Amino acid sequence: MSKPEKFFDDEGLRLDGRRVDEIRPMKIEVGVLSRADGSCYLEWGNNKVLAGVFGPRELHPRRMQRPDTAIVRYRYSMAAFSVEDRIRPGPNRRATEISKVSREAFEPVVLTHLYPGAVIDVFAEVLQADAGTRTAAINAATIALADAGIPMKGLVSACAVGKVDGKLVLDLGKDEDNYGDADLPVAMTQDGDVTLIQMDGNLTQDEFKEAMELVKVGCKQILEIQREALKDKFSQFDNEEIEEETVVEAPESEVEVEETIEAEVVMTEEAESEIGDEVEEDDENDDEPDEYTGDEPDENTDDEDVEEGETNE
Ligand code: ADP
Repeated sequence: MSKPEKFFDDEGLRLDGRRVDEIRPMKIEVGVLSRADGSCYLEWGNNKVLAGVFGPRELHPRRMQRPDTAIVRYRYSMAAFSVEDRIRPGPNRRATEISKVSREAFEPVVLTHLYPGAVIDVFAEVLQADAGTRTAAINAATIALADAGIPMKGLVSACAVGKVDGKLVLDLGKDEDNYGDADLPVAMTQDGDVTLIQMDGNLTQDEFKEAMELVKVGCKQILEIQREALKDKFSQFDNEEIEEETVVEAPESEVEVEETIEAEVVMTEEAESEIGDEVEEDDENDDEPDEYTGDEPDENTDDEDVEEGETNE
């Protein structure tokens, strides 16, 4: 591939016909893997990325656990067939660096303190690469995390901005990435807080400020696409399905309740004959404590579990 003669046509449109502030088309599918706790398949232009999340689950070996929080692990990798020349399989310096900065991009949003001693594993596999794969992987990973039900303060959206032929452009294409003057991948929370920023190339201070404004616009567009994808996924669980499940389970629990009441009536009659009228008032009041008493053993059991766990550690 050689450097294109020009990056913009007479109307100012880019090589693939996009405006400078336009991102490539993005398509997101949620929950595509049955073995992972959460997953996402994302296409962005010619990029194709699959993300899978496992966890939160107990971290082994246990000496790696943190008593106050879960840890997040993130592995970015490119498939051997993801680029024109076959990539040597296995970790390399670039993938290690991208994995590290991508993990850090999620640190401010994932509520890790809810799962002490646990690990949340995020795997992002680039199946086809065409510039912007680290941002594509982050966009897919955030959806996979949400699909896994991991509590987060919000979604993370990522997009690159760059400079080509002296002009700032959003979401660099392959040629723009290879032959441009600057490439600035950015990830941000839905509140606009930047969680990842890297820069390859040079920008003046003014250009940098302008680039950050431009990338904000891109991330907002991506956030909307991500939200729509999640809405589509969860709208599958419509009311009909939920009602059916409830109808099946309800009679079983009613039977149990009736049996319990009968048993209490027998007890009450015996008590009445022995103790007399005073007890009637107590029996009425007994209804409430009975319910609470039923809960207490559970709470104690929980405590015991925790204590046992702590002792074991
Ligand atoms: P990003 O994909 O996040 O933009 P880079 O700027 O490092 O990351 O890479 C730009 C593009 O270059 C990638 O999307 C991919 O198309 C290509 N590329 C990256 N690494 C390799 C490699 N080892 N072999 C061939 N092409 C690669």
